[in-house]
Amino acid sequence: MSHNRVVTLLQKLRFDNRFTGSLPSDDVGGSVPRQVNGACFSRVAPANVANPALVSHSSEVAELLGISPEAVYDQSFADVMSGNRLLEGMDSHAMCYGGHQFGNWAGQLGDGRAIALGEVLDVNGDHQMLQLKGAGPTPYSRSADGLAVLRSSVREFLCSEAMHHLGVPTTRALSLVTTGDKVVRDMLYNGNPQPEPGAIVCRVAPSFVRFGNFEIFASRGDHETLRTLADFVVESEFPHLNSPNADKYVALLREVCERTAEMVVHWLRIGFVHGVMNTDNMSILGLTIDYGPYGWLDNYDPHWTPNTTDAQQRRYRFGNQPSVAHWNLLQLANALYPLVGEVEPLEEALEHYSQHFEKSWSTMMAAKLGLPSLADPRDSELAESVLTLLQSVETDMTIFWRELANVDCSGSSELLERGSPLLRAVYNVNAMTVEQSKAFHDFADGWAIRQRDLNVPIGERTTLMNQTNPKYVLRNYMAQLAIDEAEQGDFGLIAELLELVRSPYADQPDKERFYSLRPEWARTRVGCSQLSCSS
Ligand code: AMP
Ligand code: MG
Repeated sequence: MSHNRVVTLLQKLRFDNRFTGSLPSDDVGGSVPRQVNGACFSRVAPANVANPALVSHSSEVAELLGISPEAVYDQSFADVMSGNRLLEGMDSHAMCYGGHQFGNWAGQLGDGRAIALGEVLDVNGDHQMLQLKGAGPTPYSRSADGLAVLRSSVREFLCSEAMHHLGVPTTRALSLVTTGDKVVRDMLYNGNPQPEPGAIVCRVAPSFVRFGNFEIFASRGDHETLRTLADFVVESEFPHLNSPNADKYVALLREVCERTAEMVVHWLRIGFVHGVMNTDNMSILGLTIDYGPYGWLDNYDPHWTPNTTDAQQRRYRFGNQPSVAHWNLLQLANALYPLVGEVEPLEEALEHYSQHFEKSWSTMMAAKLGLPSLADPRDSELAESVLTLLQSVETDMTIFWRELANVDCSGSSELLERGSPLLRAVYNVNAMTVEQSKAFHDFADGWAIRQRDLNVPIGERTTLMNQTNPKYVLRNYMAQLAIDEAEQGDFGLIAELLELVRSPYADQPDKERFYSLRPEWARTRVGCSQLSCSS
């Protein structure tokens, strides 16, 4: 296809910019760092980059947006997805928001290194905002450069697609391009800045509005802009909640509580740790957003966090995510209060979070165990005991759950054999005490007894479990290997991992090596077990 035809093709993307078209904008231009008042966003153009080159793209997202496969491989696609070329209809801008970081109010933050290009109507007629992460400075960049490095861009690109295919609500990623520019980062914050390859991910979501977008106006007492934003969000994203009175803000909070609970339950199901659950990283749509120092549990340890910045307090550790989400929702409730004027309805909506979380968690755990529900006390006991067992010795979460479906449920198996498939998940089987190994067999036996009682056909059970317990997740070390190669200019593993994570629940016989315990070298390596916010 000729270059011009591709440009024409991309020009056919239909932009309908509701956000910038409906909300108040900052009337100062340019990217000089500043406090922005009374405005939801600032218009700003992406910076020019030296040599944009496409590394990878998600064909499903391209298809959703109506971008043909040929168009993707033309240079003009990389030009657009690096910000070097703006298409007609685009309205590039950065959003104004604030946030609570690690429990403290941080004031104005905003899109410091994300520049949205505008909203495209996708093939279903729905709005999808395109946003370039790492496209240069904005009024919200404060003292930073607005850029992103290849390693963090690879992590965001692969992980957000992995999450989507795992069935977790998330922002998507259309493309990953390298810029040809160097970006200096002190990766470990230890006084050792190094030039690294720059990159840009084009993220896609119906909306990138965060809890912090509401908090900033509430904190400034700017109730007018707060109301304008809340009305816009309800109208455009939650039209079923629209009403002429303040009920809609309460209904909004209630639904955000529900969606956030669902999202966190998914994280617990698959072993995902977000790492930086600040309120500026909480999506109003209940999407997983802002992939920074996130990580996946290899061994099941609810106290684990990958984020070195949080190593002391461990506020954002795996097992704390449900209560942190609740705290964040409380901040959203506070921000909406001026529009409601009454505490009780907001408190009631907030309570809905815990209720919905419990219900959703219990449904999820039952599915992981291949049970219809946890209503029977014997089944809720199984759910409790499995979490204790997983912590009794170093046990790989993904492999344990996946192997549970292979435990023999018939009455004939020897008690000391029953849990054998589960032992595949134990990191050091040889170091297990007799009691520890007996605990695995006892659990497996108890589980098999319940399965026999319930008499669920094996096919049905296995299908349910295998659709709930993924076989492949984007383990920290896997992303790191892809990064190591990418930094040498080899993007083969990125392509292979993208392929892998597209079908996380299917057996992929040629990819069996990714269904194994974390290798020993990855236990302590930076990028695998510890990540800083530097990106
Ligand atoms: P994060 O912890 O990545 O969610 O970022 C917190 C805030 O810092 C957000 O307002 C970001 O836009 C901003 N930020 C992070 N990295 C950069 C950067 N390299 N340049 C400008 N702003 C940044
Ligand atoms: Mg953020």
